[in-house]
Amino acid sequence: MLKVENLNVHYGNIHAIKDLNIEINKGEIICLIGANGAGKTSTLHSISKLIIPSSGKMFFEGEEITNLSTTEIVKRGLIQVPEGRRVFANLTVLENLELGAYLKTNKKEVEKDMEKVFNRFPRLYERKTQLAGTLSGGEQQMLAMGRALMASPKLLLLDEPSMGLAPLLIQEVFNIVQEINKEMGITILIVEQNANMALKISDRAYILETGNIIKSGNAKNLLHDEAVREAYLG
Ligand code: ATP
Repeated sequence: MLKVENLNVHYGNIHAIKDLNIEINKGEIICLIGANGAGKTSTLHSISKLIIPSSGKMFFEGEEITNLSTTEIVKRGLIQVPEGRRVFANLTVLENLELGAYLKTNKKEVEKDMEKVFNRFPRLYERKTQLAGTLSGGEQQMLAMGRALMASPKLLLLDEPSMGLAPLLIQEVFNIVQEINKEMGITILIVEQNANMALKISDRAYILETGNIIKSGNAKNLLHDEAVREAYLG
């Protein structure tokens, strides 16, 4: 479904991503694991076109997307949930969700999608007129995911969804990620420092160290890999 070939990202003299290759099949949950500064966000932002890589090619559903804009990527169903719950604090929950559907012209379809999002996140329904900035951290993460769902993603890119959340909420967020994958048939690429939880819900994983993939494979196997456990699972 998504193929990233020989991706390189430079920030001035810093070579942040080095000849990175990733492949994601339809229906999978894939996680990208790495320590602070390993290059996880740079990889995601390259895919969603928030930064321009120095070289590399990308293909989505068989078509080259290397030089497309973010809007064109969104139209094709490649949607990113940003790190750190970037919701529009001064807008209501409802307005935030409506923004997720900004490229859609069919009002009926938007209403239907909204209903689906509220069914999945009943707490957002209860708080639909509340300003997003006053939601709790966990609720903001749900809103960020709900907003992404409003864009009808085929591939959802999740940037550290567990960041800054209490353990119970982290579990809830990962459960929701699994539900979105299994029940809605949405393919998922998840970037996480919380390797333990991410590996548990993923099919396959890539381990990133200073811009290089140092290991990849079946997530359950990596969960039991000695070197991975030592470096990332404590
Ligand atoms: P974290 O988990 O801390 O968010 P990450 O794995 O997502 O880290 P990136 O944010 O992709 O890592 O950063 C990879 C490297 O690129 C780091 O060394 C970082 O300092 C550097 N970097 C990222 N963005 C920039 C930038 N705008 N200018 C200069 N260097 C940058």
